[in-house]
Amino acid sequence: MNMRSIRVLLLAASAVALSACSVNIAARNDKPAPPPLALASPPAPVAARPGPEDDPRLLATLYMQQAEELRRLSKQAYALAALRLPSALKQPGSSALEQTDGGKGKPPAAIFDVDETVLDNSPYQARAILSGTRAFDPAQWDQWVAERAATPMPGAVDFVKELRRSKVRVVYITNRECRPRDTVPHDPCPQHADTLANLNAVGLGPVAPEDLLLKGQNGWPAEKAPRRLEVIRTHRIILSFGDQFSDMMSVTRKEDSAARARIAAAHEDLWNSRWIIIPNPTYGQWADILPEPLSRSLRTR
Ligand SMILES: [Mg+2]
Repeated sequence: MNMRSIRVLLLAASAVALSACSVNIAARNDKPAPPPLALASPPAPVAARPGPEDDPRLLATLYMQQAEELRRLSKQAYALAALRLPSALKQPGSSALEQTDGGKGKPPAAIFDVDETVLDNSPYQARAILSGTRAFDPAQWDQWVAERAATPMPGAVDFVKELRRSKVRVVYITNRECRPRDTVPHDPCPQHADTLANLNAVGLGPVAPEDLLLKGQNGWPAEKAPRRLEVIRTHRIILSFGDQFSDMMSVTRKEDSAARARIAAAHEDLWNSRWIIIPNPTYGQWADILPEPLSRSLRTR
């Protein structure tokens, strides 16, 4: 077969294929058009209900509960405190800015915040995430406090024991708040007994009642300076511990991040000798002062 014959054959085959195709299209066009789908008005868009996976607290709470890194950071903070203890005892001066005379001649005390400093309340946070409670719920919080179930922050128990061996008074100043509770109507501050029991149960005691100072007790405000002054009357404060800046010194809640950085920088000597911060990524004034939406505060360079 020569090339011409092949070309003729190919042309003929193409014509047959085209003709078959035309027949198919015609057949399709002959079919009656299907009736239009009987759709009612389009469904209204349903806003997806935000769940735990959308909660902005999720990753930070998981970091508290699951990250070995968090455990190590907390232990390192208390190990640093143990290294600083001998000089904090020996060197004159106080970790409380209010103790302007340095507390010379008074026996030593150390001041601890409670929540996320010596006790881990991340299960409360986890419950709030799982139940979809976005705003702080005082009733849910009080229920958690009443359970007395918080576990110690890593490293805290051993260090507090070391302080007690060194005859340092351990004082807890917390913004857990005195609130009446229906189940114990005779007690104006059941949170005091709960916190005392929780601290003792995990090995952070024995805590004398006068060594645990709550917000609202004796009319004390959230600002911790008046409670520090109470301790200063009789003791020299050699070390201060907290997960927040305001556990160490008075900081108004109106400061922005840059102002907080400037205030902190003014006390470099205390950060380097007597103030110890315990890591808490889950909440705090650092977050409270950020404007909404939070993404506005992201830095891209
Ligand atoms: Mg705290």
